Amino acid sequence: MSDPVRDAFDRPLASLRLSVTDRCNLRCRYCMPEDEYVWLPRASILTFEELDRLVRVFSRLGVRKVRLTGGEPLLRHDLPALVRLVARIPQIEDLAMTTNGLLLAQQAAALRAAGLQRVTVSLDTLRPERMLAFAKSARHGDVLAGIRAARDAGFEQVKLNSVVIRGFNDDELGELLEFGRTEGAELRFIEYMDVGGATHWSLDQVVSQRDMLATLTRRYGPIAPVAGDGRAPAERFRLPDGTTFGIIASVTAPFCRTCDRSRVTADGTWFLCLYAGQGVDLRAPLRGGVGDEELAALIRATWQGRTDRGAEERLGVVDRGALYRIESLRADPHREMHTRGG
Ligand code: SAM
Ligand code: SF4
Ligand code: SF4
Repeated sequence: MSDPVRDAFDRPLASLRLSVTDRCNLRCRYCMPEDEYVWLPRASILTFEELDRLVRVFSRLGVRKVRLTGGEPLLRHDLPALVRLVARIPQIEDLAMTTNGLLLAQQAAALRAAGLQRVTVSLDTLRPERMLAFAKSARHGDVLAGIRAARDAGFEQVKLNSVVIRGFNDDELGELLEFGRTEGAELRFIEYMDVGGATHWSLDQVVSQRDMLATLTRRYGPIAPVAGDGRAPAERFRLPDGTTFGIIASVTAPFCRTCDRSRVTADGTWFLCLYAGQGVDLRAPLRGGVGDEELAALIRATWQGRTDRGAEERLGVVDRGALYRIESLRADPHREMHTRGG
């Protein structure tokens, strides 16, 4: 296999997040707090065959990891069929999905049988009333059932993502860890990010990695770092009893220097960074009849020019507030986290 294409800061093209739909059946306050949204036109959504072709081209240039995301990926009709296609691509070593879990109980076994290797379920709270207030859904039980179904379906690793927000769930860190331990799932605590769509974001709601570690140290005693490969977004830690967990400190300690991730939206727009203002249209060439070589040349040249380090640049913003106002998100829904894929 040839060496991966490298960007202007020598970061390889290695990991791709594929957003398979911009629709969602939750309305998490940190991602989709508004009452109405502008959706991508249906005709612009890439078919599974188009997605498969794109991933094949990306894999020739270095991509080894694919994560299916959204919106809510399980809302995409017959997702196992896409999993089957991507799982057949020889260069793809790691095929994962991030889901809110609502529909996972029905689909876990089929996804596993199709070749999905890992699942991450978003679980911010163990209290159904908090989920109702925060994500406008009374289906907390379905998420828990989804987590169990994933484990029962034989997924090697089930992870749980919790976005920690001051005054919402920052009093549940210990309970979430203990829940993860009993379910055999590792927690990833995520700092609340000022991504597009997080129109209610403010710095005072962010619970920093440092604060999370201080809270957990008070409760459990000394916490040790776990050595990692330096490329994964989460830093991992171990409690004195051996329980491991991760923290994704995208706000207070961004990791742009080693970032090998990019994102393709459901309509084939390629973003080199979560914070990038503009994406590259891959749908037009894909549907315009260009060959794989030409598509690969476009992707290679674009990646080679990549200088994005969005989260690090945000550190320097004085009076930091929401990244985009609602009018600007309506003018271009590609700026939304739920379109871009987290
Ligand atoms: N709907 C699926 C889910 O929630 O798991 C997949 C898409 S969602 C955009 C992917 C991840 O982004 C989720 O784990 C979610 O918690 C995270 N996310 C969304 N908005 C965020 C924000 N403002 N800050 C930090 N993480 C965020
Ligand atoms: Fe919540 Fe994920 Fe839906 Fe965003 S895309 S509202 S994080 S479930
Ligand atoms: Fe990568 Fe952009 Fe996130 Fe930095 S902000 S880690 S460059 S996606």
